[in-house]
Amino acid sequence: MNAKSEITKARNQHKPVANIPPGLTTKATIVVVGAGAFGGWTSLWLLRKGFKVINVDLWGPGNASSSSGGETRLLRCVYGIGNLYTRLAARSLELWLENEKSLDKQLFFPSGALWFINDSYDGGFVEASLQVLDALKLSYERLTPTEAGKRYPALHVSDLSGLVLEKKAGYLLAREACISVTKRFIAEGGTYVQSEALPGVISNGRLNNLLLKNEKLEGDAYVFACGPWMPEIFPELLGNKIIVSRQEVFYFGMPSGLVSSFEDHLPPWLDLDREHMYYGFPQTQNRGFKIAAHGKGKIFDPTCEDRIVSGDELEKARNYLAFRFPVLKHVPLVESRVCQYSNTPDEHFIMDQHPEAANVWLLGGGSGHGFKHGPALGELAAAAIAGESSVPDEFSLKRFDLYNRQPPV
Ligand SMILES: Cc1cc2nc3c(=O)[nH]c(=O)nc-3n(C[C@H](O)[C@H](O)[C@H](O)COP(=O)(O)OP(=O)(O)OC[C@H]3O[C@@H](n4cnc5c(N)ncnc54)[C@H](O)[C@@H]3O)c2cc1C
Repeated sequence: MNAKSEITKARNQHKPVANIPPGLTTKATIVVVGAGAFGGWTSLWLLRKGFKVINVDLWGPGNASSSSGGETRLLRCVYGIGNLYTRLAARSLELWLENEKSLDKQLFFPSGALWFINDSYDGGFVEASLQVLDALKLSYERLTPTEAGKRYPALHVSDLSGLVLEKKAGYLLAREACISVTKRFIAEGGTYVQSEALPGVISNGRLNNLLLKNEKLEGDAYVFACGPWMPEIFPELLGNKIIVSRQEVFYFGMPSGLVSSFEDHLPPWLDLDREHMYYGFPQTQNRGFKIAAHGKGKIFDPTCEDRIVSGDELEKARNYLAFRFPVLKHVPLVESRVCQYSNTPDEHFIMDQHPEAANVWLLGGGSGHGFKHGPALGELAAAAIAGESSVPDEFSLKRFDLYNRQPPV
């Protein structure tokens, strides 16, 4: 029987079961599929709890197709009302810094992040966040457009009602971080295998094994942290809960006279401009001036589609750049990337047990903001899998029942 028919057979054999906790001892073997931000950190934390951990990834940590495979990712704590993600980001920041010492290189750069606010479309998002930042003692500075215009002369500010410099924010070297985390995992005794891994047969409420390219791999528990491939691997369960969207990223060349003024003085920035919400990184890591729209792109197949940016999106990015940074009006495009978000309808992550297999944990739905949270999310997942703590309701699969009854407008 070939792997595909085994998988079909496995899927046909799924039976609903009670949600039995796995009751793992530290002698247990846990297999984590995926070595992106979520799977890599979860593997490391499970290992540090004393489990035997095998991490499997098809194309390798931080690979070009993965959501974690970009050059840079922003770590911000501004998250609007509510403090779940602000706390998670703040905890992650501690963990990035703490672990950086053993991760062989600097991965977090404490640049700050600059929020552009226009009252007519911000909807109070940043203002609400500031109360949360105050409560958690995360420092920031308010700037008037005039002050910002003086401090950042390249910035067009006349349409803005204010700016906020989030001081604790910064950026991470994303794909390099994934590689470093996997190296650390191996150095601390974990096993890394490069292979495709798919779920085998589920029986009596448990997954029996994984199907690797040439063999079956057995563990006591399994974590699937496969980013945008989660709906493909669990189509019935996640097909309508994680929607994968195409996101285009542009790097523009910097005029020679401006390189150092941008690099040294302008932090990564976010512009809450109605539908697009552009954000960018000025000349970080010598890649040029990165800009991208946070608005969700078209539905995307992460395995089969070419990753060539579209003329439309490039034109929009150029127009935005010319408006917000007029001195960059005629700069050339030097590099571009197509990556993907794994969006849940409410942009909350998924961290829960498979409803038919209590020894399977599902971790995903990064929704365009997951990278920064890798360390804290991995810590939380490892504690939940070990049975030490529960996960926030926001991450549960049950929350989707509500949407099924009452679709969000
Ligand atoms: C353009 C862009 C900009 C972003 N900006 C930010 C940002 O500024 N800040 C932020 O915090 N977040 C940001 N994000 C979101 C963040 O990058 C993602 O939420 C995060 O990387 C998701 O990580 P992951 O581990 O879930 O998925 P991935 O990184 O995609 O990892 C999944 C892994 O699973 C492996 N895999 C899949 N299927 C299998 C299989 N069957 N067998 C074995 N291995 C398999 C893949 O090879 C891959 O390595 C951005 C995302 C994009 C696309």
